[in-house]
Amino acid sequence: MASLDPMMTSPKVTLFGAAGEVTGSCTLVESAFSRVLVDFGMFQGAPEQELRNAEPPPIDFAKLDAVVLTHAHVDHCGRLGMLSRLGFNGPIIVSDATSELLPRVLRSSATLQFVRVEEHGAGTAPSFEVLEPAHLVQSSRARDVPPVVLFGHRDADRVAKMVRAIPWSAWHELPGGMRVRLHHACHVVGAASVELELEHDGARRRVLCSGDIGPFNNPLLAAHQWPERAPDLVVMECTNGHRSLREQDAVRTFDAVVHDAVANGRRLLFPVFALGRAQQLQQHFARLSRDGALDGFQVYLDSGMAVHGATVLERHPRLLAPGPQRMMLRGESPLEFPQLHRLTSRSQSEDLRSIRGGCAILAGSGFCDAGPIVRHLLDHLEDEGTSVVFTGFQLEGSLGRALLEGATRVRVNGHERRVRCRIERVEGVSGHGDREDLLRWFAGFPQRPTRVVLNHGIADARSGFSAALATDGTTVHAPALGEPVLF
Ligand SMILES: [Zn+2]
Repeated sequence: MASLDPMMTSPKVTLFGAAGEVTGSCTLVESAFSRVLVDFGMFQGAPEQELRNAEPPPIDFAKLDAVVLTHAHVDHCGRLGMLSRLGFNGPIIVSDATSELLPRVLRSSATLQFVRVEEHGAGTAPSFEVLEPAHLVQSSRARDVPPVVLFGHRDADRVAKMVRAIPWSAWHELPGGMRVRLHHACHVVGAASVELELEHDGARRRVLCSGDIGPFNNPLLAAHQWPERAPDLVVMECTNGHRSLREQDAVRTFDAVVHDAVANGRRLLFPVFALGRAQQLQQHFARLSRDGALDGFQVYLDSGMAVHGATVLERHPRLLAPGPQRMMLRGESPLEFPQLHRLTSRSQSEDLRSIRGGCAILAGSGFCDAGPIVRHLLDHLEDEGTSVVFTGFQLEGSLGRALLEGATRVRVNGHERRVRCRIERVEGVSGHGDREDLLRWFAGFPQRPTRVVLNHGIADARSGFSAALATDGTTVHAPALGEPVLF
């Protein structure tokens, strides 16, 4: 085999995103013979963060042998739509379920980019300001920073045609000589840890990219998998490397919030992300429904993508935990219950405005910065009979974060509202494992890995988690953006 880079003394891994931050995942794995990119996600958050997406990393995309995707969350897959424009023409390797999610994620991302440009031109870009209390006063700057279009529908469709689904747990040969294998990551349906094997100096070396690691007590998804021997290098996420969350408390808190809403006719608004959180909450509502606790209390899933995510999950019973899998084999869905309404159109979402009395609405986006949740908030922030229930991390500078921190008067898209509804928090219903889960996952290899690269974690998470791992002969790297790690 001819060497691409005869000067390369060791294989290397370079993070071109999610290095000391939690979005923009992009990891390049190189040997002297082959180059493979794992994930190509968007940077998310403040407008200036999102502008970084328009600057592609210094990679010769035409010389990549393959791209492998861990899962269909935008911070891991959101820039794949740029690949054909950047000169990449090879396969995009994904799991079975991810291959069914990805085309729709890319298409809706393209739509959203055009909508944002149009809104900016028309001066109608979503915005919010916190007016009271004084110490929280702030305004979003979405209207000041012009959005960019990274790719269009045609690019998204072209890239979707490059997607190749491979079976779980079996080696698959890539062009250029590397091999790839997918292991369950228990994060969202189809989420994988990606193992690559490459040749160096006549020996085979293995690197495993964890992707996002789900909690061990995820009641919905099949359990984590590990390779039969520890890889030479582990690239590991540590989003919650500094935080402990207790799922048991989360379930109890969730149940109490819902019981109260059912008994007192309250309206619950859940800001959710479409893949992961929405399905987990659906499963919890389904459990309460089977227990007879919902009665006539209706639940509305107001997100076309979340409805699609549930459908894909139901098509892959083998990716589910044993209990939900048994239900699927009996012809039932762990996500279905009589009080559930899966909404797929804007007009169905508008119809919710005329509903009186208690109900639950699960709507995106999870940070309350766009999507139908904004409309529901405008309708109900001043309503004392409503609770806004946050079930996950809220990005700094988002409306969700401001409400959680106690904003009492806000202006959303030009409309001023007093916050009279209840703000509730159910911490721990998460697709991300906490610190204990991450440590347990790391201990799951048959031998302790000797070399680890930490990605997906802010500085506190990386330094705290690094200290926990850097014992017993394990070397831990927390490289800067673009800084290669040899192995
Ligand atoms: Zn994810």
